[in-house]
Amino acid sequence: MKLVIVGTGYVGLVSGLCFAEFGFETICVDTDKNRIDNLKRGECPFYEPGLENLLHKHLNQTKLLTLNASLSKAMVDADIIFITVGTPTKRLEDEADLSAVYKVAEDIANNINKYCLIVTKSTVPVGTTRKINKIIGNKVNKENFDTVSNPEFLREGSAITDFMRPDRVVIGSDTKRAEQMMRELYRPLYLLETPIVSTTIESAEIIKYASNSFLATKIAFINQVADLCEVTGGNIQDVAKAMGLDKRIGSKFLHAGPGFGGSCFPKDVKAFNSTAKKLNINLSILDAVNQSNQIRPETIAIKISNYFNNNLKNITFSFLGLSFKPDTDDVRDSTSIIIAESLYDRGATINAFDPQGIKNAKKILPNINYCQSIEESCINADAIIIATEWNEFRALNFKLLKEKMKDYVIFDLRNIYNKEELNNLEFVYYGIGK
Ligand code: NAD
Repeated sequence: MKLVIVGTGYVGLVSGLCFAEFGFETICVDTDKNRIDNLKRGECPFYEPGLENLLHKHLNQTKLLTLNASLSKAMVDADIIFITVGTPTKRLEDEADLSAVYKVAEDIANNINKYCLIVTKSTVPVGTTRKINKIIGNKVNKENFDTVSNPEFLREGSAITDFMRPDRVVIGSDTKRAEQMMRELYRPLYLLETPIVSTTIESAEIIKYASNSFLATKIAFINQVADLCEVTGGNIQDVAKAMGLDKRIGSKFLHAGPGFGGSCFPKDVKAFNSTAKKLNINLSILDAVNQSNQIRPETIAIKISNYFNNNLKNITFSFLGLSFKPDTDDVRDSTSIIIAESLYDRGATINAFDPQGIKNAKKILPNINYCQSIEESCINADAIIIATEWNEFRALNFKLLKEKMKDYVIFDLRNIYNKEELNNLEFVYYGIGK
């Protein structure tokens, strides 16, 4: 089977390379010609562990991967076309902007010359894949194509492992032929006994939003419980640990912190809620999730500012972590960026360091200071803020850093460190919910 992947972002490029790893001939397409040219030279447009190695392997050795800026050329022999373009939040509304998805559907409709399967891998509201079917059906004979929803669950930072060893694969289709082709595609995962959930197109679309919204709800919940702990003398880490030991609850996504960010959770919670509202369905739990998460980074910035009597004019922060999570350079909707910006706006000097996220952060937050190392960020700093839990920040050499700092305060927004240990090193320590 020959595959075409439209959109070479985090999902498209990872999917394309992993399908090549499965042994399929794959063409990755993007309207961003620059991106395609760089990829042809073996340069990844973003940081994702292991991705560049896979790119070099399938570009130069197996030659299973081809890159193309033209969808019409790429899809000549295609058996399956994946839509993996972005579905960001609309500018002034909460709903998903599907213009890129529908544009791809139009382009596909104009170029189909033999049977092929059109698969929505982008995260799209329920009903979108049917609309794609309609757009294509307006121009193409119904026998010449099928549409499928195959949502993607990979996480940035562990995208390749997630794709190659997923918890489940969801296939939403309404013809036998389509389902068989999809099962053939994912056959390499049968050895791992990966559950394949075959369902309707509508269910598949809902599964993706419901999964992300549920995880976001867990985070928002534990963050609010953390606030309760802070004013009562509780310790959120003990509370979350004991809660997580209950198998019905589970320990994942129960870490209190500065709120969820990134390119998926915030937009998916909004889009799912917006879909429900349009259908007059009450999903108001997501109003609360969204609201609490939106104010959280600012609330944390205020708490930090309060410590300095709301006078940050002469305060310098070593600000560690800009990406929304470790092992990615993605700073889209990163809570770290919101907190850094808020403290900067209040007059603080921000010396920021991130192992991979600086290039992208500079585009959003050009005025803060960017440093080459953790040590450099600590020069003359009054406090360290750990905003993203990169491994590099898990074993800081506080004795060495103290020599560079003016004052010794740490705001550990990821609860990596132990208060007593830091106090013993003469640091004033603040964690979340303890
Ligand atoms: P992205 O912004 O990283 O990449 C999208 C790519 O699509 C860009 O390279 C863009 O140039 C290209 N593009 C836009 N219009 C195009 C067109 N008409 N033809 C060809 N290419 C076009 O997006 P992403 O983060 O990979 O997300 C893609 C989708 O997958 C979204 O719906 C997202 O919600 C979903 N998703 C993302 C993740 C993640 O971790 N990023 C995980 C699961 C699902």
